[in-house]
Amino acid sequence: MADLKRLYQEIILDHNKSPRNFGKISHPTHKAEGYNPLCGDRYTLYLQVEGGKVVDVGFEGAGCAISKSSASLMTSCLKGSTLKEAEDMFNNFHRLLMEDAKPEDFPGKQCKIVALQGVKEFPTRIKCATLVWHTMKSALEGKAEVSTE
Ligand code: ZN
Repeated sequence: MADLKRLYQEIILDHNKSPRNFGKISHPTHKAEGYNPLCGDRYTLYLQVEGGKVVDVGFEGAGCAISKSSASLMTSCLKGSTLKEAEDMFNNFHRLLMEDAKPEDFPGKQCKIVALQGVKEFPTRIKCATLVWHTMKSALEGKAEVSTE
């Protein structure tokens, strides 16, 4: 339980309880669905991209605290970002969980997504954290669905 307590940090709990950017946006230009069969997390991500920038973003769906807080943190960070920044964020987040990258090594925008780095110690939950990120990438690449299977 001590481990779980460490994992479910305050930020994660907060974003799970009151997820930011929850709900469909009014003028999405990109959309994708993400599903993590290991845990049952399922989300739809909506993005409005204009002039190379993510001007609006929202998500719908349900899943565990980690997946939901990750979606909330990611969308908060994405809003107002350029597509290049979004790509950097994706790569940074991937490195944070898959490699030994330190948050301070991150180029560009600093976001609260580093709150999720504790998930690294729980390999079975990494897919919960990365699901919406892969969904974001698929949406921007024009793919409609993504599964972490
Ligand atoms: Zn999950």
